[in-house]
Amino acid sequence: VEWRRSNILCVALVLCSAVSCFAQEPSVLLRDVSVVTVDGEHARIIDKTDVLSQNGIFAAIGQSGTIAASDAVLEVEATGMFLIAGLADAHVHFDFSEVAADAQSQFVREPNDILCRLYVAHGVTFVRSMWGTPSIVELRDQLNAGTRIGPSMITTGPLLTQASAIPTRMLGSIDDIRPILEEHTRFGYDALKIHSSPEAAGCTLLVDQAAQLGIPVYGHVPFTLGLQEALDLPGLQTVEHVVTFCGASVRDGSPAQGARWPQMMELYNDQDEEKQRFWAARARESGKWICPTLTTSLTEGMLLDEFDDYLDEFDDDLVTASTIEYWRQSLGGEKTMYVRSNIDLRGLYEAPRAIVAALIDADARIIAGTDTPARPGIAGRSLHLELAEYVELGMTPAQALSAATVDVARALDQEQVMGRIAVGLRADAVLLRGNPLEDIANLSEIEGVLLRGEWLDRDALDALLEEARSLVQAANDSG
Ligand SMILES: [Zn+2]
Repeated sequence: VEWRRSNILCVALVLCSAVSCFAQEPSVLLRDVSVVTVDGEHARIIDKTDVLSQNGIFAAIGQSGTIAASDAVLEVEATGMFLIAGLADAHVHFDFSEVAADAQSQFVREPNDILCRLYVAHGVTFVRSMWGTPSIVELRDQLNAGTRIGPSMITTGPLLTQASAIPTRMLGSIDDIRPILEEHTRFGYDALKIHSSPEAAGCTLLVDQAAQLGIPVYGHVPFTLGLQEALDLPGLQTVEHVVTFCGASVRDGSPAQGARWPQMMELYNDQDEEKQRFWAARARESGKWICPTLTTSLTEGMLLDEFDDYLDEFDDDLVTASTIEYWRQSLGGEKTMYVRSNIDLRGLYEAPRAIVAALIDADARIIAGTDTPARPGIAGRSLHLELAEYVELGMTPAQALSAATVDVARALDQEQVMGRIAVGLRADAVLLRGNPLEDIANLSEIEGVLLRGEWLDRDALDALLEEARSLVQAANDSG
């Protein structure tokens, strides 16, 4: 792509100074591009289109040549290229320990500035943070205001559970719930996140109370709450990870049913396909959005004979040594435990994929999320892999793209803001060198990213990667 700065820039700045629009993003005109529109299985490519962004939103979209060049400060010739809406990763985590004094976190702690750069460099313009603290809210506000480089963001509050080694909030009775709802408002979280609470009653109560206040709830299905009960909870908007579906699909009479960990992990090898199909159909009927988080599931790494070799793949300077060590120890430790207990690891890899295939087959609602960096993966890159998995398991590339764009917007009540290339929506888009509907792998062929109306060409994206490498190096040197 050849782009040129128009000399209108000087004029624009002079005109703007009176109304102080310096903080706003310059206008960008993408010329003669093929716009890819997806919605579930429906897909359309509109060739020879001009797309204009102004003040961070899509201002005009029209046939090539119909938008006046003088409207744009920056023009990008995009002939032969494909424009998709910015990608969204619906399940990620950030590090809050840099600001949160009380964080005695045993959770992975990858620096936020590295994660933010990697997301953008891979075309991810929006993320849902699934674990929030006041410092994550601060990060969210900076990102959404464009004062810090990175994807736009919404964040849940802290993990709500009963017992855990990591800092979370207890969730038992109504007495626990009131302060949680107060905190939600006081700190400005976008949603609540429930975790694997042993108190089903407390969980149901919280979801109901939150629903009455109009607060979205996202989360895992608590172990004590049956999958059907969870799917029936009106206030629970998204269900994270497919593990619960594996648990519900264990064949009758399996010794894994009454077993304790780690023996209970045999449940992955004792799946009943009929039940998988049954639960997939129930998920479809419930209308709940399921976020499978396949690629960074622990299963993949643990399957490999040489776990260390697997982690070495990430040793390419985009992930800090301490995070790689965290993966090595936490996942390697679990693997050792399973191997000692004679547990066949194959099921841990295959069962979640079988569930996702069943969900796709049943036409259940799926949004793409990766759980980065809790499990091995490179921020942003992991979403490309997640979508490739969906295609392998039965989605069309259009459906996979939809699961990472317009469907995420729908699931998270962001439809009026993002998810499509349409006038009035936030100008988040990815310019690809190849058609992603022909091959989902073309998501990796990024020519440029439009981030809240700011154009980042290939050089700018490479510069972000270079900065991420330097930050990784600095963290490694100091750590
Ligand atoms: Zn997570």
